[in-house]
Parts: sequence; C-alpha cells; structure tokens
Amino acid sequence: MAAPESARFGGVVPFSSCDWPGRLAATVFLAGCPWRCGYCHNPHLLSRRSGERDWPALHRLLTQRRGLLDGVVFSGGEPLAEPALPALIDAVRELGFKVGLHTGGGYPDRLAPLLDRLDWVGFDVKTMWSSYADITGIAGSGERARLSLARLVDAGIELEARSTLHPHWHNEPTLATMAEQLREAGVRRWVWQRARTAPGTLKPLAPLPPDWPPPRLAERLGRGFEALTIRTQ
Ligand code: SF4
Repeated sequence: MAAPESARFGGVVPFSSCDWPGRLAATVFLAGCPWRCGYCHNPHLLSRRSGERDWPALHRLLTQRRGLLDGVVFSGGEPLAEPALPALIDAVRELGFKVGLHTGGGYPDRLAPLLDRLDWVGFDVKTMWSSYADITGIAGSGERARLSLARLVDAGIELEARSTLHPHWHNEPTLATMAEQLREAGVRRWVWQRARTAPGTLKPLAPLPPDWPPPRLAERLGRGFEALTIRTQ
C-alpha cells in the first residue's frame, strides 16, 4: 500500500459545510484524473504530477482540528486515482474523523476494498451510462461508473448522486433516461448542478439559459426519489 507521504495534493479547504451536506468537514483535493470532461472546472488537478507531496502539513492541520470537524472529504480530480488513498483514509480514521469521498466511479476495483471505510459518498453521474464517453472522452467509463455505483448501493453506504448539467450534453430525454437508470440502481437522492461556463473550464461552453435546468422537469423526474434538488453553485 502506497504511504500517505507519497500522495499528491491539489489543495485543502480546512472548514467546509457544503462538500459533505449536513456535516462540517475538511476537504482534501487529490491531484490526478483519468477522464477529461469538457465542463471540468478543475483542469489544474487533472495531472497527478501537478500535485504536491505535503502529508506532514495536512496531518498537522487535521490533528489540530480534532473535535472541531465531523469528517474529512477526499475530492479531486478523482481521488481513487491516487495510489495512497487507502493509507490516507486509514490515517484520518485513526485521527477520529469520519470519511467522505467525491468520486466519478472510474475505479470500481479500487473502490471495492474501501467500502467498509467510507461513511458517505458524493457520486458524480455524468449522463446515461451508454453516453459517458461523449463527456469523459474515455471508452468504457460509463460501465465502470455503473459498476462503482452498484457496489456503493449494495454496501449500503449513504450517498448523494450529483450531475453537472449543460444543454450541450443533457436534453430532456437524456435526463429522463438518467432518472430511470438511477432509480433502478437504488439511488435515493439526486442533485442537479448547473455547469460552470466561466473561463477556466477544460473546453469553452455556451452560457446557460437562466432557467436551466428547468425546475418543472426536476419536479417531474424527481418522482420516485427521496429528493431531487437543483443546487446553485
Ligand atoms: S469533472 Fe471529469 S475531468 Fe474533471 S475531475 Fe471530475 S471526472 Fe475528472
């Protein structure tokens, strides 16, 4: 198992109340991602080599915050791309923190051995399983995401599915199919996020209409979920 000292970090938010809804958490960004989504607003985190090895400083910071935070969320990039993630999870659990994970599900086999060490997952759902490559640029990414989600649901881990939406990729039939696939997968909570179109995304995107995604569509497709929420960023 790779040691925490070898992990490549892209930044830390010491106190966050939004990265793990309902919890106060520190968010640790890990550098590296195998996918290349056009709407990605963290392109500086896509190369693992862009990250810094700084575990001693992070360990010090978390040690000082014991008792002040509920947990630590690993985000990215794609945190499962970091070989030291299992050791990082063990280390923060030893400090007494609960563990949250933001993932797109690109590594189902790396996820499997971590299932009993995760308290919550924010699972990024790009689109219909069959259309993933249109967004990620990587063949087979939808099947890996589908398998990861199935493993999380089977393990009974509390999770929130979230989708970053832009009309370039997401029309009404696409969203309806996504809703059907997520209900079938056993997802209870789904969040829609408006794609950012400001400079800084991986590819330039047309500005979003102000009323998009349509709240009426969310109301209709939300039937069968415990909650379908439109989150403004
Ligand atoms: S948005 Fe796509 S490319 Fe960017 S970090 Fe997430 S999975 Fe990787």
